[in-house]
Amino acid sequence: MSAVPEVAKGRIDIENVHIHLGQGAQAFEALHDVSIKIEPGEFVCILGPSGCGKSTLLGALAGHLQSSHGAIHVDAQAVDGPHPDRGLVFQHHTLFPWKKVLDNVTFGLKMKGVSRTERRNRARELLKLVDLASFENHYPSQLSGGMQQRVEIARVLINHPRVMLMDEPFGALDAQTRLMMQQLLLEVWARIKTTIVFITHDIDEALFLADRILVMSPRPGRIIEEITLDFPRPRQADLVTSQRFTELKRHCLELLHPQRSLPPLPRLTPLGAPPAARMQFAI
Ligand code: ADP
Ligand code: MG
Repeated sequence: MSAVPEVAKGRIDIENVHIHLGQGAQAFEALHDVSIKIEPGEFVCILGPSGCGKSTLLGALAGHLQSSHGAIHVDAQAVDGPHPDRGLVFQHHTLFPWKKVLDNVTFGLKMKGVSRTERRNRARELLKLVDLASFENHYPSQLSGGMQQRVEIARVLINHPRVMLMDEPFGALDAQTRLMMQQLLLEVWARIKTTIVFITHDIDEALFLADRILVMSPRPGRIIEEITLDFPRPRQADLVTSQRFTELKRHCLELLHPQRSLPPLPRLTPLGAPPAARMQFAI
């Protein structure tokens, strides 16, 4: 397979960022003193409950939101507005419904004046990478949700972003498709190694994907813990059944739901034992 060209890996530096949202009496601090350093090529998940400020943080990184205090740099350049160097993928795709897959992927390059042959070559390379080589003439509506998100990833990657910012990109997919997409994203990332900041409220997803998880607390959003994951790569689907995974999942649950005290971990019973003998552990 041909190599994906011009790999870019951004270094992200978020320093003491505070963000206030709302007007007048409704004004509140959505992010409080957030400082994060992300290495080039790192895969970082931001994990936190709904409403804790994850999208606000990503919006600031994307350059869509101004911080009230602090600074954000990507490769030592201040973030002061949106730029294709920072590619965004949301939960719902932003493809043009009237354009075919190939034209959706090439669109950014067309705007930059890249020749038709070059943009088509690059788009085809990326469609191959996201396993959609034979769908270039389809319209988005003819694709499944997972396929649409794969087109979206190709559309972002064609700009060679320094960082990919992903806001719950698989949140609308069913569990099976979601797992496939996580594996595909890891395969793509293993090839391109761009820096990824991936937002999720799903503990399993964060544990499966990340090099490092940053856990956020609600109102005002703060980073309350950093968890470095040493699971080997490539990650295998059965990772989720490992003892270390379960321990870390439990730790994350306690961080996200500090008011709930979890019962002690059950002792494992052999699979052949009658159901009544098995301990129930509902999360
Ligand atoms: P998350 O992505 O973690 O679910 P958000 O960053 O979307 O959280 O939102 C953080 C908080 O800010 C939430 O309480 C949300 O209701 C509020 N919020 C988000 N955007 C705005 C806005 N433009 N104006 C006022 N409040 C907002
Ligand atoms: Mg959000």
